[in-house]
Amino acid sequence: MSAQVHDAVIIGAGSVGLPAAVFLAEAGVKTLVVDQFAGPGQGSNKAAIGGIRATHSSPAKIRLCLESLRIFSTWKEAHGDEIEWFQGGYVFVAYREPEERSLKKLLKVQQRYGLNIGWLEREELIALVPDINREGLRGGTYSPEDGSASPMMSSAAFYRRAVELGVQFRFGERATAIIHRKNGVVGVRTDKGGYATETVINAAGAWARPLAQSAGLDTPVVPDSHEAGITEPVARFFNPMLVDIRPTEGARNYYFYQHKPGGLVFCITPDPPVVGTDRRETSEYLPMIAKRMIGLMPKLANIKVRRTWRGLYPMTPDGAPILGWSKALEGYVHAEGMCGQGYMLGPGVGALLARLVRGADSAEDRQILEELRPTREFGAEETLK
Ligand SMILES: Cc1cc2nc3c(=O)[nH]c(=O)nc-3n(C[C@H](O)[C@H](O)[C@H](O)COP(=O)(O)OP(=O)(O)OC[C@H]3O[C@@H](n4cnc5c(N)ncnc54)[C@H](O)[C@@H]3O)c2cc1C
Repeated sequence: MSAQVHDAVIIGAGSVGLPAAVFLAEAGVKTLVVDQFAGPGQGSNKAAIGGIRATHSSPAKIRLCLESLRIFSTWKEAHGDEIEWFQGGYVFVAYREPEERSLKKLLKVQQRYGLNIGWLEREELIALVPDINREGLRGGTYSPEDGSASPMMSSAAFYRRAVELGVQFRFGERATAIIHRKNGVVGVRTDKGGYATETVINAAGAWARPLAQSAGLDTPVVPDSHEAGITEPVARFFNPMLVDIRPTEGARNYYFYQHKPGGLVFCITPDPPVVGTDRRETSEYLPMIAKRMIGLMPKLANIKVRRTWRGLYPMTPDGAPILGWSKALEGYVHAEGMCGQGYMLGPGVGALLARLVRGADSAEDRQILEELRPTREFGAEETLK
C-alpha cells in the first residue's frame, strides 16, 4: 500500500468521477482517482450521446441537472475548453392521444418546479422543426434551455482541470476491494497495490456493484446495454433533441439530435432490456432505429451513417441514482446507478459530492440526498426515466 494518505479516493474516472474530482480539488480535498481503463471517460461516458436536460419529473434530478446545465453552459467561458455545448432544447413529440396525454400530465409537474417547458401545438412544432413528419402530428413539449455537449471533449476538459488542481490519477488500475475495519473505510485495494484513505467514492458506473459488495454493502446496479450511432456531418437543419416515446416491437423509445459539428447522434431504448457488460455493437440496431428515424423525419433517408457503438447504463430498479454517505460503513460514499442520465447528472452530482465530503451540504442538497438515499425502497419508476 502506498504510504501517502489521500483525503478521498474516487473509483471511476467517468461522467461522475471526473467532475467530482474537479470540485473536490477546488475545495482543497487531496484526491486520487483510480480507473481500470487507459484514460479518462473510457467507460460509459464515451458511449453517451451528449444530451443534457433538466426537464425530469424527479425533484432531485431536476435540481442536479440545473446545476449541470449551469456548469456545462459556462465551462468554455470559465476555463477556455471547447466542449461543444449547444442550447438546442428538447422536444418530446406526440402523434397519438396516449402520448399527448402523458406528456401534458408530466408538463404540469415540470412547470411546478419552475422549468422552462411548454406545449407546442402542431403548427408551432412544424415551424420549429420544418422537416418533421407532419402526418398525424399533434404537437409536443419543448424545453428551450436544455441542450447537448460532447462527452469526449468534456471528460478531457474535466480531466485537464483536475490535473491542474493537483488531482492524482492512476489509469489501467482496477480497484479490487474497499478495505474497511470496524465499520469504517481505511483504503482501497487494487490489482497493482493499494491506497490509504478514510473516504472512498464509488463512481464505478455499471461496474459499481461488486465493489460495493467488497465493502459488505449492496447496491442494486445492473449493467444494461444500449446502442447509439452518428451520421456524417451536414449543414444544420434542426436544433432540438427529438424524443419519440411511442413504443414499438423491440424498443421503448428513441431520440436523436444534430450535434454542434453537424452529425446526427441517435440512440434507442431496447425492450426488453439487454442486461450484461458486452460492449460489442450488433447488426440489429441500425436497421431498427433507421426505420423509425426516417419515419419521424423522411429527409434522413439521404444521410449516411458513419458508425455505431454500444455502451452500458448503470441501471437501478427505479431509474434514479443512488447517492450519499453509507449509513452502514463510515467513509463510503455512494455515487452509483446514474442510469441513462449520468452524463447530464455528472457535474451536478460532482459538485454536491464535494460539498458532502467537506460537510458543507446545503438544505437543498439534503433534500436531494433524502430522495436518492441508498436505503430507499426501490419501487416506483420515474415517468420518462
Ligand atoms: C448509448 C448510450 C447513450 C447515452 N446517452 C446519454 C445522454 O445523452 N445523456 C446522459 O446524461 N447520459 C447518457 N448515457 C448514460 C451515461 O453514459 C451514463 O449514465 C454515465 O456515463 C454513467 O456515469 P458514471 O460516472 O456512473 O460511469 P462511467 O462514465 O462508466 O464511469 C465509471 C468508471 O469507473 C471505472 N471503473 C469501474 N469499475 C472499476 C474498478 N473496479 N476499478 C477501477 N475503475 C473502475 C470504469 O472504467 C469507468 O471509467 C448514455 C449511455 C449509453 C450507453
